[in-house]
Amino acid sequence: MLIRGFLTALTLNLSLSSSAALAVTVNSLPTAALVPGGVAVLATGTPAVTAEFRRERVMLADFQGAQYAVVGIPLDARPGAHEVILKTADGTAVPLSFTVTDKQYVEQRLTITNERQVNPNNEDMVRINRESAEMNAAFASWDETQEPVMQMRAPTEGPRSSSFGLRRFFNDQPRAPHSGMDIAAPEGTPIHAPAPGVIRATGNYFFNGNTIILDHGHGLITLYCHMNTIDVSPGTRVAAGDQIGKVGQTGRVTGPHLHWSINLNNVRVDPALFITE
Ligand SMILES: [Zn+2]
Repeated sequence: MLIRGFLTALTLNLSLSSSAALAVTVNSLPTAALVPGGVAVLATGTPAVTAEFRRERVMLADFQGAQYAVVGIPLDARPGAHEVILKTADGTAVPLSFTVTDKQYVEQRLTITNERQVNPNNEDMVRINRESAEMNAAFASWDETQEPVMQMRAPTEGPRSSSFGLRRFFNDQPRAPHSGMDIAAPEGTPIHAPAPGVIRATGNYFFNGNTIILDHGHGLITLYCHMNTIDVSPGTRVAAGDQIGKVGQTGRVTGPHLHWSINLNNVRVDPALFITE
């Protein structure tokens, strides 16, 4: 046990950045949900300078005088005990445990008329792999210059036609679970930044269509897909409420809507946990 603890501390010293980041103060926290696709909001107890979960850096925030780790739980997380590793100012690694409860997400079956969007050809796959590398790089961004906002308004008005986590079948073939929230709205409906941030990437992607990745700092990054127009460019700093684009039906869709994802420590989590009405 002693040896194992020592090794863990040593590994963390090597893998975590040497810049001792201070936690930021926030005036709200997301709704906690200790389920796959949810968010753990954990009082650290020990003041930490950095934290990681599954080798990804985790947000630390001070709220009402106490420090919290705000942790995205992946959809593929197993029910049971999980550990965030806190690192204190003197370099000690302190495990912080939490328990994930099972959640059964329901099935959704969709029919896509463009067969290539269900079974892409080799040429498509080259494009898809290049695009996912580009998007993954943006999702891995860590920006400490911004103040994270833990609660947001929905980015566009409309009924939420499909909820997060649905186990999806396209033309009866199983595909990745739904990693965001769909908001149905007519083509051309404005989409607004739900919180301040920096546009990290934009593109026209095979599945996602016209897409924006918006970085709110500290590992909190939002994704907007299937847009008609993209009204911003990479590097642009936006304020909450700024128009960033319009609802469309580009990419793999069955009709006009906004697909909105929230990424926290590089994990897609349920956007509903961040929405204030
Ligand atoms: Zn969607």
